[in-house]
Amino acid sequence: MSLPLIPLWRTILRRNFTRPEELISFLNLSEEQQKLLDFSPNFVLNLPRRLAEKIEKGSLIDPLFLQFVPLKSEQMIHPEYTQDPVMDANFVLEEKLLQKYSGRALIISTSACAMHCRYCFRKNFNYQTHDKTFAKELETIQNDPTLEEIILSGGDPLSLSNETLKALLKNLANIAHVRRIRFHTRFPMGIPERIDSEFLALLKESPKQIWFVIHANHPREFDADVWHALKSVQLLGIPVLNQSVLLRGVNDNPETLLSLCQELIDHGITPYYLHQLDQVQGAKHFAVPQSIGHALTASLMANLPGYAVPKFVQEIPGKRSKTIL
Ligand SMILES: *Cc1c(COP(=O)(O)O)cnc(C)c1O
Ligand code: SF4
Repeated sequence: MSLPLIPLWRTILRRNFTRPEELISFLNLSEEQQKLLDFSPNFVLNLPRRLAEKIEKGSLIDPLFLQFVPLKSEQMIHPEYTQDPVMDANFVLEEKLLQKYSGRALIISTSACAMHCRYCFRKNFNYQTHDKTFAKELETIQNDPTLEEIILSGGDPLSLSNETLKALLKNLANIAHVRRIRFHTRFPMGIPERIDSEFLALLKESPKQIWFVIHANHPREFDADVWHALKSVQLLGIPVLNQSVLLRGVNDNPETLLSLCQELIDHGITPYYLHQLDQVQGAKHFAVPQSIGHALTASLMANLPGYAVPKFVQEIPGKRSKTIL
């Protein structure tokens, strides 16, 4: 009997930093600096080595550090920063199926991610995820012919095994009125090895058009391996788009955003959305005033081709689409 082979990406995922003590020593943080860290956050530390290696040693202001390392500032309570700022709970069709907008519904395919982003609006959620068959969700999709596009979100859908994804795509392929399948993922920037040959094969087999939306906020999240992985998706005729969140200290300056958008279009990736931060508990230190977002967008428009400027949007619960700011 042969043992099931553990895919390379899972082995890499298991090497993520999850203990703050270990990361502190890796990053050479002084005792004074360590005092600012939260050693036992509710939303635990989870940081792929690849991203940790890009963080400047001894820095508390590195844009990758700020995105992934839990700080005590997260414990500050502000009344306008809530547990469920986008009110997902009001839009649940099934346990793992959300619909806010006409024609498209979103499968919360898993709660697991390759990394834990400190500003994440789903950080306070505790989705039930042991059932990976999505039977009820698929039935509801089957029974609603208006659902043309199914978004695989989470968590991160690329946390699922190729086997599970393959079965899910196959089931969606059997629903005639589903025309498109969209992935929303942040996995490739942490663990590009996830885009392995099996995964590419299952994308290729899908009779429905696939769209691939990645989520990167800073140009340093990319490197040759990440671009290569994304190119292999693009080579299948799958458009790759990027969405970012506007984050204080991370990308709230014209140089960073300009460089991010340039890098993206140099690799054939369209900047899709620049999101105003969702007001989730523990994320206020990331907030950027809307007026700055407008100035940044204007600066992008003055320096880039039109297709390279993301739409500056906010998710306002109850609206029929993301709201253009
Ligand atoms: C953001 C979001 C979408 C996708 O919106 P697009 O504007 O089509 O990118 C779909 N469903 C939910 C629940 C969302 O939050
Ligand atoms: S990868 Fe996405 S869902 Fe996961 S923690 Fe980061 S922002 Fe949230």
